Amino acid sequence: MTDILGLEFEGLKAFVSEINEPSYRAKQIYTWLHKRNVSDYDTMTDLPEGLRKKLTELAPVFVPEIKQIRSSNQDGTKKYLFELNDGQLIESVLMHYKYGYSICISSQAGCAMGCSFCASTVGGFIRNLSVSEMLGQIYRIVSDLEDGGRISHIVIMGVGEPLLNLETVLPFIRIITSESGYNISARNITISTCGIVPGIKRLAAEQLQVTLALSLHAATQELRQRLMPVAKKYPLEDVMNSCDEYFRLTGRRITYEYAMIRGINDSDEDARALIRLIKNRNSHVNLIPLNQTGKDLMPSSPDKVRHFQEILAKSKINVTIRRSLGNDIDGACGQLRRQYKDTSR
Ligand code: SAH
Repeated sequence: MTDILGLEFEGLKAFVSEINEPSYRAKQIYTWLHKRNVSDYDTMTDLPEGLRKKLTELAPVFVPEIKQIRSSNQDGTKKYLFELNDGQLIESVLMHYKYGYSICISSQAGCAMGCSFCASTVGGFIRNLSVSEMLGQIYRIVSDLEDGGRISHIVIMGVGEPLLNLETVLPFIRIITSESGYNISARNITISTCGIVPGIKRLAAEQLQVTLALSLHAATQELRQRLMPVAKKYPLEDVMNSCDEYFRLTGRRITYEYAMIRGINDSDEDARALIRLIKNRNSHVNLIPLNQTGKDLMPSSPDKVRHFQEILAKSKINVTIRRSLGNDIDGACGQLRRQYKDTSR
C-alpha cells in the first residue's frame, strides 16, 4: 500500500501514472491533501468516483489519530497525544503567540540521545517517524483549530533527534513549504539538534532557509559531555565548525539554546565561557530556564537567568530568555514523556 500523504509531488505523479491515471490528477490530489487538508477521498469532489474508489483501496490516507488533548490553564498551550498506525504514541504542542500559532512536532518515537535533563529520552528510542506522520501532526492540529487560524511557525523540537531522521525531515520540509501545499515559509521552520555533525553538514548542503538551533547547554566540552552523552561522539569544536558551515552556506544565523541549570552551567564564569565561544559568530542565544523533569537538576532562579543574560548582552551577544509555555500540562521543553507512561503499562 502506498503512503500517499508522504509522497512529494514528483512521487505522487509517478504513483498516478502507475495506476494509469492522467498526470493532472496528481496536482488535484496534492492540493486536496496538502493545501486543503482533506484526507477523505469522498470529499475530493473533482475526482471521478472510480478514481476515489481506487485510491481508497490502493492508497488510504494515514494520519495520526488524536488520542488526547490537554490544554494549559496558564497560557492556552495545548498538548496533543497521537496514536500512530502501529500503536506508537507521540506528542506535539500547539502554542499561541501574538503573531499566530506555532507548533512543536516530534521527529521520532522515543529518543536515543540520553541528555540528562530531558524526559523524552526516558524509555529510549523506538523508531523514526515517517513523512506522513510528521505532516499528520500538523494537519490534524490545523483541523482542530477552533478559530480556523493558521499555523505560521514550526519547530522540530518535540521528541527525537531530527538530524538522525533526515530521510524523513527533508521531504517533510519540501512538502510543508511547497506552494501547492500548506506553504509555510522555510524561514519559519526551526530544526533543533543536539549536535549531530554529519547531519548538520548534510542539512547545510541542502541550503534551505530553515533555522538551525543547536542545543548547546554548555560552553565547554568537559561540561557538555557530562550533560549530553552525544558530545563524546561529536566534540564541541566539530559541532561549532559545522554550525559555521551552516551559516556560510545558508546565511542563516544559528540559534544556540542554553537550558539554565542551577549550579551547573549558570555561573558568571559559565557566561564568560559562552561569550568566548560565540563572540565572533553571527548568532542568537536562547536562554531556557530548565524545566524540571527529575529530582537531580533544578532550574536556575529567574534572577540568575536575568543576570546571565545581562552579562551576555554587555558583550553584544544577541540573547533572549525563552518564555516557558505549557508547564502545567507537561508540555514544556523536555517534558514530553507521556507516551512512555502509556506504553510501559
Ligand atoms: N533532539 C533535538 C530536539 C529535541 S529537544 C535537540 O536536542 O535539540 C528540544 C530542545 O529542548 C533542546 O534544546 C533540548 O536540549 C531542550 N530541552 C530538553 N529538556 C529540557 C528541559 N528539561 N528543560 C529545558 N529545555 C530542555
